[in-house]
Amino acid sequence: RARRLGTRYAVHEGTPEREAARHLQILTHLRTALDDNQLALHYQPKIDLASGRVTGLEALLRWQHPDWGNVRPDEFIPLTEQTRLIQPLTEWTLHRALHDREIMLQRGVDIPIAVNLSSGLLRNREIVRMVAQVLGLHASAGWLQLELTETAMMEDPERSLAILHELVAQGTPIHVDDFGAGYSSLGYLQRLPVDTIKIDRVLIQHIDRDARNAALTRAAVEFAHVLGLKVVAEGVETKAILQRLEVLGCDAAQGYFIARPMPRGDFLDWFEHHDG
Ligand code: C2E
Ligand code: CA
Ligand code: CA
Ligand code: CA
Repeated sequence: RARRLGTRYAVHEGTPEREAARHLQILTHLRTALDDNQLALHYQPKIDLASGRVTGLEALLRWQHPDWGNVRPDEFIPLTEQTRLIQPLTEWTLHRALHDREIMLQRGVDIPIAVNLSSGLLRNREIVRMVAQVLGLHASAGWLQLELTETAMMEDPERSLAILHELVAQGTPIHVDDFGAGYSSLGYLQRLPVDTIKIDRVLIQHIDRDARNAALTRAAVEFAHVLGLKVVAEGVETKAILQRLEVLGCDAAQGYFIARPMPRGDFLDWFEHHDG
């Protein structure tokens, strides 16, 4: 069985040994990619449903390998989580987001950027140092947000909570990613120092046709609002879904129907036409 990696390269998977070798190969190449300028961030806007204005950007990692073509973050980020590579990768991402933020500001575009954090980063305080460093390099406050899944935050609750509180105290709001995608503990959500939930695409993708999904989405929105949290729906692919989300009380939305993730320059062009 051949498995595609990237857009141009196929490796054969099968035995655990071959899988392990393939993973090792990806990690080795990723180390080079970090030094070799093969990585980029693309930005996907989030819009406020009431005003239509852009309220935030999500930074999404892209890897253009010279031989393999595009390697999807889903294919390599999970592999880094078992290694120390996740630290330099996160550091690179935070610094690139800061760099792009400064260029956007020069163009008069002042929109917060959300960076995704891998599960595992909350296991030690290194992430607090990395975030403090990029915040210290930039004059304006409140520009950086962090997206983390609930699973990441619940892995070692005691330690994770302490680190999350430090991140919030430094001035980086925490958004709960993929809410409703897997196991969600509404009770635990109350204890997390988060200010936004992002409802996963699997929950909202049929709300225009499926009454049960619509009811679940409504319940999640109401629950979040009771806790004083904002609600962003992600993976919005149609106008019908966008309209339903507004009816259900959702605050903001993100998805291909609004805009795809784009390189910084493309985003700035798009933004000029959108928010002018
Ligand atoms: P995520 O954080 O849940 O990001 C949303 C994913 O859905 C992105 O895939 C995005 O391109 C895609 N998406 C956006 N709108 C739509 C839509 O309307 N329909 C559909 N079908 N998909 C949509 P992407 O960029 O391939 O990223 C996949 C995952 O990789 C992310 O899921 C996130 O978990 C991870 N990731 C991406 N960048 C980073 C990063 O810098 N650091 C870490 N730790 N993880 C990252
Ligand atoms: Ca995310
Ligand atoms: Ca998500
Ligand atoms: Ca996801």
